[in-house]
Amino acid sequence: MKLLMHACCAPCSVYCIDELRKENIEPTIYWYNPNIHPYKEYEARRDCLKEYTQKIGLECIIEDEYGLDEFCKSVANNLNSRCVDYCYPVRMRKTFEYAKEHGFNSVTTTLLYSIYQKHDFIKKLCKDLSEEFGIEFLYRDFRYGFWKGHEKAKEEGLYMQKYCGCVFSEEMRYYNRNPIQTSNTNGYEIPKEPRMQVKKIENKEDYIDLLLEADPSKDMIHKYLNDSDVYALKKEDELISIAVILPISRKTLELKNIVTKENYRNKGYAKTLLKSLCGNYKQKYDRMLVGTTENNIPFYVKQGFDKYEKTIKNFFIDNYKEEIKDGELTCTDLIYYSKDLKKK
Ligand code: SF4
Repeated sequence: MKLLMHACCAPCSVYCIDELRKENIEPTIYWYNPNIHPYKEYEARRDCLKEYTQKIGLECIIEDEYGLDEFCKSVANNLNSRCVDYCYPVRMRKTFEYAKEHGFNSVTTTLLYSIYQKHDFIKKLCKDLSEEFGIEFLYRDFRYGFWKGHEKAKEEGLYMQKYCGCVFSEEMRYYNRNPIQTSNTNGYEIPKEPRMQVKKIENKEDYIDLLLEADPSKDMIHKYLNDSDVYALKKEDELISIAVILPISRKTLELKNIVTKENYRNKGYAKTLLKSLCGNYKQKYDRMLVGTTENNIPFYVKQGFDKYEKTIKNFFIDNYKEEIKDGELTCTDLIYYSKDLKKK
């Protein structure tokens, strides 16, 4: 097999290369990432990959194209969909083109390693390009080794980036939009704003309509509601967000549902409620799971749900009568992540 592996950076390549080598596959590494900004960051990631591949004896092809202008012009009209409309397609198309021109018969990418990327979208994109170019797409779910690879990359002393790549992801990483500060009282974190409070709810059925906005099946909600604890974030007496937490073992909980009333969305309230609940539950529990759709993975990862657990294939098709939409995405698989509640 002559495999070309698109690589976004050295740390993400470590585990992928190790796994492929276990299968006796020697990939040729391909750097093409005009999405990384500003230039010093681009240079640091590129040079680190060059040095690492040299050290471990792998060929690395560098397409040296710093693409700030073109990137910004191309994504400016719709920043929210920049990853799927431009960033992934541009990089993967170029990789398949290079593979075709240079006699590779298989392509893969380290983007399949990161728990922060839209894995299923990348998988589908590569499958489509594979058909278009007549080159095999070597699919592996490298996410299973995310933390193992992360540890090895740190031990190797590789340059570890702090954000995905583009200036917009840098802004999301460092610019805190959450309007509510939190404080810690006796280990239980509550919002600092005096009128905000988290309350446990007893009359759970009264909140079904709001819960349906996040999980649109009464049957599904009733499977977990009775055995769960339900909490509301309130401003004075007005309900803002609600969360449903189900204990699933002595040390593990699952976040089954979290939703904010429409007029309060995108203001950081769900994040505040979740933070408050995690602060409370960490007294007794070690771990909280969440099953989510692909679109919501970045939100949960940012809240510390950064360990990929498993994917239940076709969950939404098998368990819901109607097609379930999440924005533009038709939901199929349920993807589980977990948060270590004890982690500082
Ligand atoms: S967030 Fe990452 S994947 Fe999305 S556009 Fe920016 S660099 Fe590309």
